[in-house]
Amino acid sequence: MLASLATTAAALPWFLPTAAGVIGACVGSFLNVLIVRLPAGESVVSPGSHCACGAPIAWRDNLPVLGWILRRGRARCCGRPFSVRYPAVELLTALLFLACWRLHPPAVAVGGWIFLSGLLAATFIDLDHLMIPDTFTLGLGLVGVLYSCAVPALHGQAGAFFALDSLRSGTASLEGLLIGSGLVLWIALLAGAVLKKEAMGLGDVKFAGAIGAFCGWHGAVFAVFGGAVVGTLALPLILAGRRLARPAVTPAPLALGARVPFGPMLAVAGALYFLVLHGPVDAWFDRFLPLF
Ligand SMILES: [Zn+2]
Repeated sequence: MLASLATTAAALPWFLPTAAGVIGACVGSFLNVLIVRLPAGESVVSPGSHCACGAPIAWRDNLPVLGWILRRGRARCCGRPFSVRYPAVELLTALLFLACWRLHPPAVAVGGWIFLSGLLAATFIDLDHLMIPDTFTLGLGLVGVLYSCAVPALHGQAGAFFALDSLRSGTASLEGLLIGSGLVLWIALLAGAVLKKEAMGLGDVKFAGAIGAFCGWHGAVFAVFGGAVVGTLALPLILAGRRLARPAVTPAPLALGARVPFGPMLAVAGALYFLVLHGPVDAWFDRFLPLF
C-alpha cells in the first residue's frame, strides 16, 4: 500500500494533500456533531443532521464548509442562522489534517489525524461546558497506547525488528501517559492546597495523559508548561471563543477568578508539539537532561 501511495504521490502531487484536506473537512463535520451531541448524552448516529426547527438538512446543504457558505449561514427550511463555528471547525480540521499529512510519513500522519480530532472535539466541548467527556481523555489515551504499539514510528522507533520497536513505542506511550497525568495531578493538588479550592479538574489530568500517549513524555511536559504559556497569551481569545458557541448553547458562567478551561491550552500546545515543535523541544530536553 505504501508503494501505491508513493506512485500516486509521484504521478499526481496534488492528489493526496487534497484528499487529506477533504477527509479533514468531512471529519470536522462529524466532530461538530460530537461536540454538540456527546455532552448532551444524545446518539451521534441518529437522527441524521437536522435543523433546530426539526427539518432534516439535505446533503448538499450539509457539505463541509461549502454548505454554510452557499446558504450564507442560514437554514434553507426556516432561515434560522447557523453559527460560524460549524464551518470554522470544518476548515480548521481540514487545515490540520493537511499539515499533518505534509509533515509526517503516512502511518504517523493517520495517527496524528486521530490525535488532532480528539484534541479539537475536547477543546470545543471544554469551552462550552468546562468539562471533557472520558471519550476524549481515557478513550484517546487508550487509542494512543494501542496505536503506538501498532505504528512504532509514532515514537521514532523504526528499527529492523517490529516486535522490539512496538514494545519500545508502547513503553514510550505509557511513559508519556503516566508522566503527563502525574504532572497535572501534582499541579492540581498543590494549587488546590494553596488556593484552598479546586484549581484543575480530573478531566485535565486524564487529558494530559492522552496527549502523552501520542507525544511521549517530552510532548506531555511541553503541553503542560507550553499550555500555561499559551493560556496566558491566549486568555482573551479563549474568552472570545466562548462567545462563538452555537446560539442554542449558553456557555457555563465564567466569573473572574473561576476555573478557566485548561483543556484548550493543553490541546493547542499538544498539537504544536506533534506538528512542528517536537524537533526543537526534544533537542532542548536532550541538552538539559545530561545535567542531572
Ligand atoms: Zn429550520
